[in-house]
Amino acid sequence: MDLRTLLIAQTCALGATAVMLWIARSDTDRRNGLRTWMLAVTSQAIAYLLLANAGRLPVLASALLGNLLGALSVALFFVAIRQFLGMAYSVVRLAAMVGLVTVVATAAGSEYVGATIFNGFAYGVMELLNGRALWRSPPAGLARVQRLVAGACLAMGTLLPARALALALARSDADYLNMPLTWQQPIYVFGFLYIIVTNLGFLQMCKMRAEAEVRQQAMTDGLTGVGNRRALDGALDAELALAARSAQPFSVVMVDIDHFKSINDRFGHRAGDASLAAFAERLRSGLRAQDRAFRYGGEEFCVLLPHTDTAGAKTMAERLHRQVALPDQAGMPAQAASVGVTAWQPGDSADTLLGRADQALYRAKAQGRDRVEIG
Ligand code: GH3
Ligand code: MG
Ligand code: MG
Repeated sequence: MDLRTLLIAQTCALGATAVMLWIARSDTDRRNGLRTWMLAVTSQAIAYLLLANAGRLPVLASALLGNLLGALSVALFFVAIRQFLGMAYSVVRLAAMVGLVTVVATAAGSEYVGATIFNGFAYGVMELLNGRALWRSPPAGLARVQRLVAGACLAMGTLLPARALALALARSDADYLNMPLTWQQPIYVFGFLYIIVTNLGFLQMCKMRAEAEVRQQAMTDGLTGVGNRRALDGALDAELALAARSAQPFSVVMVDIDHFKSINDRFGHRAGDASLAAFAERLRSGLRAQDRAFRYGGEEFCVLLPHTDTAGAKTMAERLHRQVALPDQAGMPAQAASVGVTAWQPGDSADTLLGRADQALYRAKAQGRDRVEIG
């Protein structure tokens, strides 16, 4: 194995990865950093191609352009990771790093070892920063893959400066590309593993997060941001199973806005939508940490109160009833809601439980609205 062959092989791996990323690119890539990652891989592939041809190409092309694109790719990987994590980055500092690497490489000219030593320290720092950012507080579900990528970055961040130090101490006069690889061989082999782990890992991170977002969207009501009917069904099944196992009571609260149709009739559907979203926000702000609100349908909401018996549910329902009420203001009429509440009873199914809450709500409506009834 010689270094030129290794660099060509890495160019192929990176080139193929870049082509795949270009072909499969989509608009969502801009949000999660994958677009920047794609540019980084492309830049790195071209850089490796130029560096692999050092000695065959003019020094300006291999040393200057090769190192410029290499440094640019390192900066872009750094940006891609920060974009994914939603962290800030300094363009000025990154530009300074790219500029410095390019200047040193140009000054070193065909003394490629000199540039390699400098790059080893510069890129090592970047890898360590990437590793640290990825290691810290990964979101749930992403921890394993994100920490694997972090581990690859941290290992590379340790190996690069170590190799630079060894090269500096060896002070070899040999042409870098024709230098015997000996102890450097495992480092280049690790380079391959690093390419696979970081590229597949970053793609996996993006895929897993996109899936989690889609799952979340499928459970969320688009207008109000609270859980939708599907989410309610799932949460209710879980609460019923828990209550049946532990005989730990829970309660449900049905909340229906009074005379909501008149808002639409008087102010239009868009104002009705805004009023619904604001209502859901008031409802949500009245909940305890463990409670969850869902849109049952139309202008009707359902709140799950875990670990809450009838007495606790009545108190909570009255609190929510006060919380969602709105006095008339700036031309908008006062808003109130009718509330039906019931606690779990042994043998309950989702239908019997929601049926009782619905009946209580119906009574509240029948008795003049703007009140709480217990079922
Ligand atoms: P009540 O006090 O008996 O509950 O009267 P109400 O007018 O609130 O009830 P009704 O069932 O007669 O009407 C519900 C209205 O809610 C009619 C429907 O157009 C409106 N609505 C349901 N979903 C939406 C929505 O997403 N946006 C808007 N703007 N209106 C909605
Ligand atoms: Mg209503
Ligand atoms: Mg209704």
